Amino acid sequence: MSDNVPTMETDVLIIGTGPAGAAAACALSTYGIRNMVINKYGFTCRTPRAHITNQRTMELLRDLGLERDVVEQGVPHELMGENTYCTSVAGAELGRIKAWGTHPLRKADYDLASPTKIHDLPQNLMEPIVIRAAAHRGAKVRFNTEYLGLEQDADGVTARLRDGITGQEYDVRCKYLVGADGANSKVLEDIDLPLEGKMGLSGSMNIVFEADLSRYVEHRPSILYWVIQPGSDVGGLGIGVVRMVRPWWKWLAIWGFEVEQGPPDLTEELATSIVHKLVGDPDIPVKIDSTSTWTVNDTYATEVMRGRVFCVGDAIHRHPPTNALGSNTSMQDSYNLAWKLALVIKGQAAPALLDTYNTERAPVAKQIVQRANKSLGDFPPILGALGLLSTEDPEQMRKNMSALKETTPAAAERRAALQDAIAATEYIYNAHGVELNQRYESAAVVPDGTPDPGYSRDAELYYEATTWPGAHMPHVWLLEHGLQVSTLDLCGKGRFALITGTGGEAWQDAAKATEAAFGVEIAVHIIGHGRELEDPYGDFARIRGTTETGAILVRPDLHVAWRADRISDTAAADLRSAMGQLLGHQAAA
Ligand SMILES: Cc1cc2nc3c(=O)[nH]c(=O)nc-3n(C[C@H](O)[C@H](O)[C@H](O)COP(=O)(O)OP(=O)(O)OC[C@H]3O[C@@H](n4cnc5c(N)ncnc54)[C@H](O)[C@@H]3O)c2cc1C
Repeated sequence: MSDNVPTMETDVLIIGTGPAGAAAACALSTYGIRNMVINKYGFTCRTPRAHITNQRTMELLRDLGLERDVVEQGVPHELMGENTYCTSVAGAELGRIKAWGTHPLRKADYDLASPTKIHDLPQNLMEPIVIRAAAHRGAKVRFNTEYLGLEQDADGVTARLRDGITGQEYDVRCKYLVGADGANSKVLEDIDLPLEGKMGLSGSMNIVFEADLSRYVEHRPSILYWVIQPGSDVGGLGIGVVRMVRPWWKWLAIWGFEVEQGPPDLTEELATSIVHKLVGDPDIPVKIDSTSTWTVNDTYATEVMRGRVFCVGDAIHRHPPTNALGSNTSMQDSYNLAWKLALVIKGQAAPALLDTYNTERAPVAKQIVQRANKSLGDFPPILGALGLLSTEDPEQMRKNMSALKETTPAAAERRAALQDAIAATEYIYNAHGVELNQRYESAAVVPDGTPDPGYSRDAELYYEATTWPGAHMPHVWLLEHGLQVSTLDLCGKGRFALITGTGGEAWQDAAKATEAAFGVEIAVHIIGHGRELEDPYGDFARIRGTTETGAILVRPDLHVAWRADRISDTAAADLRSAMGQLLGHQAAA
């Protein structure tokens, strides 16, 4: 970069204030790390975009102290789940599936897995919550600021930025740079990260509109109404969508277009006609708020960092909204990276710890892109059962759909096929395992010599709690001075937690010695009868996977780092060795 431009300094420069960038800035600021976060636009995103906030994301928001804000502004879980397939919102209903863990049989799985509940919060309301917290905690937030390029060397990164108001260019010198600049990431291009897959597979239109649809939906509250009518299989998701933005007056209609023909001229007239078609009530007053087009992508980065530059979010995983994994995974990438950056910048961990961002998150990028695209394949069987795939003639399609009511064996067969096809979409809406089952294997996890316990049920649909090192720290409710507290509440906040039981008191000294050796903070918690933390239901005893005197070391991102089956004479040395290993200080260990 040239010497003639002014230069600023920070520890971490984050490009983008979307879910990924905002979460990175918020977590780093919470951990006391100097950072600057920029957005080329004047403010956070205007349109609703992502909305379903899954439990893992709610957990990280809870850890960052933002769960209450999201709950206050979000649509509660109870109003999310009557996921409906219909010929239009006002038209015939074809079937439903209870989504997002609202079926009584699935609700237990979700309630048992996490202290949090899924919420629905449009991205344009989520981003300000997170970026505001980041700013309040010290992040330097700059809008109207465009990233132009970077150079990195052994000591840091220099990024060239342009002030969108004055046009002035300047450099920012930082120790690390985070590219959270979305699906067209320039940072990813500049550091030449390899991408696999295809972009632009099909075209889709988003139409945000206002219309009071209460009378059509209040009795079956859901955030998604899937509309199947002639033409719904063209482009896009292969099915039309009317998505609740705010109950029940603000909505987003999604309708496809042939990508080869390019995006249509989405005039207000066309947008209104599409909305009327999907709602199925041509007389309902509609106010178009905004329109945009986007494409379905099937692309992920196989490496997610280069030296001192990291990419997070849509930069490294680009996929359709099925399974609602986009902004969720984006925030989770940043949560994975932030504590590692904090420890390295504070000099408590070796830079090698940062490489585990790549080891842990590149596989997740691949997993979620593949899952979201596979889910698109769950719609055609529904269309097939309705007789929409056997003809291109709209009139014949209508006849085929109507024939479903007949009392013939053929119609009965198609009705059964329709029910099966709708039930199979469980993999789109209740893929609890996809959301929580990540078990990391990396240098930031110290194995205890036991094999991966595997899964007793379908690993995509069901979360399986385990304290096996690398897994999501299991949640159970405990009592602290008589008040309910989650095991996850004992963890996080940028520090390690060491959880033990009655007879494990010696871990306190072991933790102190390890803290002294590495300068890291370890919060020790003893759970047991008559202790500060009690396990009244015996749930912790059932899940801890160690004896009563054993210990579970939990990383700041609520994943298990290491565990010991019992206290022993070597406990202090074992803990120190494990911590040294995961911090990348082999020698000190
Ligand atoms: C219709 C639809 C529905 C969706 N539903 C869901 C859902 O229910 N759940 C879910 O999890 N996901 C959903 N998604 C996906 C979700 O919107 C994205 O995954 C998410 O926004 C990605 O976050 P990000 O921070 O990585 O990128 P973005 O949100 O794209 O943010 C990128 C940021 O970088 C900035 N930027 C870009 N280039 C530069 C530059 N050169 N200089 C400075 N700043 C720059 C941008 O201005 C922006 O602030 C949906 C998407 C769509 C289209």
